Amino acid sequence: MGAFVADRGWETLDAEAWEGPFRVTDMLGLSGLFLSMAFALGGWVLGGRAVIAAPLVLAYAAVPHTVDHYASAWVWWGGAAAAVVWAFVQAGASVRQLRAVRALARRSDTGRTVELDEASLAVVRTAGRRGLYWAWGLSGVAALGCAVTAAVLVTELGKTAEELDSASVSDVLATGAAAAAILAIGQWVHCAWRAIARTAVGQVIWQVPVGPGPVWGLSSPREGQAGMLAFEQARSIPGCSCIEDWRRANPDADAESMEDYGVPAAEYCPVHGIDQINALSPERFIARAAEPWLWDPDAMDLSPTRPEENRPLLVGFAGHAHLGFPARFKNDQVDLDPADSFFLEERTSADNEADDSDWDAPRRPTKGVFDRIDLRPAGLAGDAVRYRHGRAWFDSDTADDSSSGAQA
Ligand SMILES: [Zn+2]
Repeated sequence: MGAFVADRGWETLDAEAWEGPFRVTDMLGLSGLFLSMAFALGGWVLGGRAVIAAPLVLAYAAVPHTVDHYASAWVWWGGAAAAVVWAFVQAGASVRQLRAVRALARRSDTGRTVELDEASLAVVRTAGRRGLYWAWGLSGVAALGCAVTAAVLVTELGKTAEELDSASVSDVLATGAAAAAILAIGQWVHCAWRAIARTAVGQVIWQVPVGPGPVWGLSSPREGQAGMLAFEQARSIPGCSCIEDWRRANPDADAESMEDYGVPAAEYCPVHGIDQINALSPERFIARAAEPWLWDPDAMDLSPTRPEENRPLLVGFAGHAHLGFPARFKNDQVDLDPADSFFLEERTSADNEADDSDWDAPRRPTKGVFDRIDLRPAGLAGDAVRYRHGRAWFDSDTADDSSSGAQA
């Protein structure tokens, strides 16, 4: 915009794009304008990488405008300089964040080490290589684009606007080549910074809280499991009516999702019904407390005395350069799910302020209590509260549960 005003662009809107024979500078000038326009309209899709792209795009347009002594040259250079300052401010913030993450990693080191299995290591390595493939690919496209542009440019040089019918092709090709080159530079910088960040922080497995943690998209290992049964389990247990009852209650539903997400335990299942929960002796209940079907779907936030089992893990988190891979503890092993890492997003401090992280968890009913079982023998810090007509709820020792006072 500034450049349009400085060049009094409205006076030449109908004129040809260049005067006299077509020169390299004309081609670059047009290409610089196209690229800046494309960046202004679509640059937001680059996200954080726009910080690197902005000064390059503006400088690319500034050079030909300077060579041709356009009045707008200073506007382009001014924009490029401002973009450089902005890039340095962002780089400073990244360095500060990396230092803070590294200090936190040192401070919260528990001294425990876990070995990742071969499948998990493969996931980590493949994700690292994917970034490099992009950098090489974009570099290749840029080089090819430059070659094609040069070949076409040779045929267009020296021709007047009338001879070329006002439509040169080389400037469009050059715009594509420059865009690919700038994206490639951004990708290389991103890969380099990620490598630096991962080396600085080291291979750390973080236990992170689901609420106010550093990234969006993590789910608690137990989320969505309460009141559910694994499909295989429901199918193989003789007498279990959970699958059949679910099908009867949802005749139109697509039953395939059950195989992935499990089956809700049925109220009247002879194996998993509410009567069966309440028929368990306290000792049997304690022994089976980890089985999700015992619990009300809204209820399960078991607080184990070994919190690592109840918290999501992030393998290799190193600040915004590398968000890491979500994982969870299963049978003393770190289980890494590659599909989950697509859903990770950085949570900024602004997000944290806006985030309602003291979301009120649902509280258990006050009436209809059947009995209360101390679960500390099962390694859980709290009580199970069983109900005459519903599944059990967990009362943690730390929870501020006002309903328990009314209840006692
Ligand atoms: Zn059942």
